Amino acid sequence: MTLRPPADPATARPARIVAVKGMNDILPPESARWEWLEDTVRRLMARYAYRNLRTPIVEPTGLFVRGLGEVTDIVEKEMYSFEDRLNGDSLTLRPESTAGVVRAVTEHSMLYDGGKRLYYMGPMFRHERPQRGRYRQFHQIGAEALGFGGAEVDAELILLAAALWRELGLRDVRLELNSLGQPDERKAHRAALIAHLEQHADVLDEDARRRLHSNPLRILDTKNPAMQAVVEAAPRMMDFLGEASRAHFAAVRAILDANGIAYRINPRLVRGMDYYNLTVFEFVTDRLGSQGTICGGGRYDYLIEQIGGKPAPAVGWALGVERVLELLKEQGDSHAALAPDVYAILPDAGLFPQALRTIETLRAAGVAVQMHAGAGEGPGSMKSQFKKADASGAAHALVFGPDEFAAGEVTLKALRGDVSDGVLRQRRLPLAEAAVWAATLQSPTS
Ligand code: ATP
Ligand code: MG
Repeated sequence: MTLRPPADPATARPARIVAVKGMNDILPPESARWEWLEDTVRRLMARYAYRNLRTPIVEPTGLFVRGLGEVTDIVEKEMYSFEDRLNGDSLTLRPESTAGVVRAVTEHSMLYDGGKRLYYMGPMFRHERPQRGRYRQFHQIGAEALGFGGAEVDAELILLAAALWRELGLRDVRLELNSLGQPDERKAHRAALIAHLEQHADVLDEDARRRLHSNPLRILDTKNPAMQAVVEAAPRMMDFLGEASRAHFAAVRAILDANGIAYRINPRLVRGMDYYNLTVFEFVTDRLGSQGTICGGGRYDYLIEQIGGKPAPAVGWALGVERVLELLKEQGDSHAALAPDVYAILPDAGLFPQALRTIETLRAAGVAVQMHAGAGEGPGSMKSQFKKADASGAAHALVFGPDEFAAGEVTLKALRGDVSDGVLRQRRLPLAEAAVWAATLQSPTS
């Protein structure tokens, strides 16, 4: 293992270190869109009474092997696992958060006094081939309702996601819905499915053949065009549902119908993890190529028990933040409002102490102030400072010039807006009353 970067022979400086492939820096102004999305989510979650839960990024590897299933893409080939230096335990960067949420809920006996509605946001890690909408560090926002068994909570979660698309202004998203039934119903379906696939063994690809007896359901999810016909003709889970499972599905649908939520039943929707039962769903778009799933979820009534907790039903979803933002961009929405209210022009270093006191007063009153700062050789000319002020997008410049300062004042200059309102474009304001006139500088969003 080498940790020291080699020197670049051309410059003799150490070679540049760049980010790990598939892991992205999120820079301003792009990061403002992320903050806006996160703020929107927080407000919405509060309205649905979902509470924030934060779990570690690193978990014991066994949590995912047991929780997600051994024969899943994630566990088979996408996990970043490593050994704990001290005791040799296998640890993994979380590839998703449902397993971690279930572990935390169990570990802290959170269901002792009834069900809990929770949400999380954060980075996930999967060793996939990086491409548009598919990264090795990506971000999910998820909502989970644990300890509730009724179809009304499945529906509530779908309504919550639909409300989020509305709040974000996201269009062109459709809902696909399926039911995977209960384990015994799946067993019967599985047997029929294997029999069907065995009859067409000649068209199965290597992946499908390997999964034929370990995880045949996942074969239905194949993207291989050569297998489409066989998969299309495969026995449908829907036909194996018992009465209770059918009733649960009908109850979810009735709530969606009553709320005007359109959906398509997709009998081949199976989801990537083994832990789902009954309702599963995805929100998909055609506008992001083959990375078209922006949100997926479903019921996982047996996961808590599988991870060692007291059996309890649960349901949830997770959305991909990068894909949602990409889709918004695709629609032409731009939510990056990074301009400060005021750009502070400081031509005289001797006035910094008093000027900063005024700037701090404005900030405390809620005004967004960007202070001019040079790269090291003094404050720079007025002209260059005004150029920066213009580029910042600020509505106003506050000029802390020596003349006005001597009079106990500062000059406020409008940088944007209507040029004809000449009288208002420049005026002097008393430094001592900054807390009072601050209110006139604050934009409604800051
Ligand atoms: P896909 O079929 O696209 O691989 P998935 O079924 O593996 O998705 P989930 O595990 O259900 O995805 O995760 C929920 C959401 O997280 C996905 O719908 C997607 O929006 C997002 N997501 C999953 N993997 C990635 C990734 N590698 N990069 C970016 N977003 C991702
Ligand atoms: Mg995947």
